[in-house]
Order: sequence, then C-alpha cells, then structure tokens
Amino acid sequence: MKIICIGRNYLKHVREMDSPVPQEPIFFLKPESAIIKKNKPFFLPDFSKEIHHEVELVLQISRLGKNIAPEFAHRYYDEIGVGIDFTARDIQRKCKENGLPWEIAKAFDGAAPLGKFVKKETLGNVANIDFKLEINDRTVQHGNTRDLIFPFDELIAYVSRFFTLKTGDLIFTGTPEGVGPVKRNDELKAYINDELLLDFMVK
Ligand code: MG
Repeated sequence: MKIICIGRNYLKHVREMDSPVPQEPIFFLKPESAIIKKNKPFFLPDFSKEIHHEVELVLQISRLGKNIAPEFAHRYYDEIGVGIDFTARDIQRKCKENGLPWEIAKAFDGAAPLGKFVKKETLGNVANIDFKLEINDRTVQHGNTRDLIFPFDELIAYVSRFFTLKTGDLIFTGTPEGVGPVKRNDELKAYINDELLLDFMVK
C-alpha cells in the first residue's frame, strides 16, 4: 500500500507557511513504515529539533482505479479517518531552500500516526466535515472540509492520473492552519466532529 499526502490544501495554512497558492494539487509519499497505529506513542527522532504536527483527514481507498473521473471519485473511498502528518520543519526548510525532495522531513519512521476510521456515510456531506487536534486538552488546529482548495473528489482524480490507486491506499488530504511544534510528554488527541479517533503520547 502507499500513503499519498497532499500539501497546501487549506488557504490559511498556505498563508501561515508563506507558500504560493497551488494551481494544481501538490503531493508527496510516505512509506508504510511511517504508520503508527493503535494509539502507540510517537518517539521524537534525533535528527530534528522541530517536529511539527499537521492534523489531516485521511481517505482510505476501497477499490482499484486509474484515471478516475471526478464525478466517479466518491466511489473509490468508503472510510475517512484522521492522522498526523508529522513534519521535521527544520529539515523541510533546508530541503525547500535547496530545491530538494521532502522525504527526509516527512517520511521518517512514525511520521504518520493514524486513528480509527469511520464509514463515510456516517459523516453526511463530505464537503462539511469538522476535525480538530488537541494537545494536552487545548485545541491547536481546527479545520472543516468546506475550506479545502481541492476537494476529495478532485484529489482522487488528480492523483490517479499518475498512480494507480489500490484498495487500502491512504490519502492524507492536507492540514488546516495552526501547525506547530510538539515536545516530549505532549498528548495529542484528534477528532472528527466530536468523536475522538486518535489519542497518543509524544515520547
Ligand atoms: Mg501535511
């Protein structure tokens, strides 16, 4: 399986990063070894002094597809979850300055904690899903899919022009504003609407 992550997909986050607004979706990959499940702790890596949280809704692909038309894209995912796109911001900054790929800043072990998934039908309109991240019980990020620059169906259509999507593949759909550092002993809790789906410690 593969993990596809969309960058710069919420305008206020694009602005907080001082990045240009994309004309087409931007994406990168994480390997399976980045996943943390079952609320296991995230261990801060020794190669970065600035690990940032990015809470994101995650689509789970439910059937094989290539060159999927936007109007059919909704048939290709049936569950939505929440995850953290952990980012070594200090390293990513260097990658950007030097025009290098982002993988060492984004794809390291543990860089993709995943919470429980919920059936898409239970969430109603996918263009109005609320989600948030709390650190030590304080809300630090709060997003709603109405603010997506590229909605889910467009993401699936775009990505599937380049990659065949397979059952079980994951798409991280971008983070809203409010990204920031995590430190040892922080507790991160992520919610879709008011349902707690991910709850883990930073070690
Ligand atoms: Mg992200």
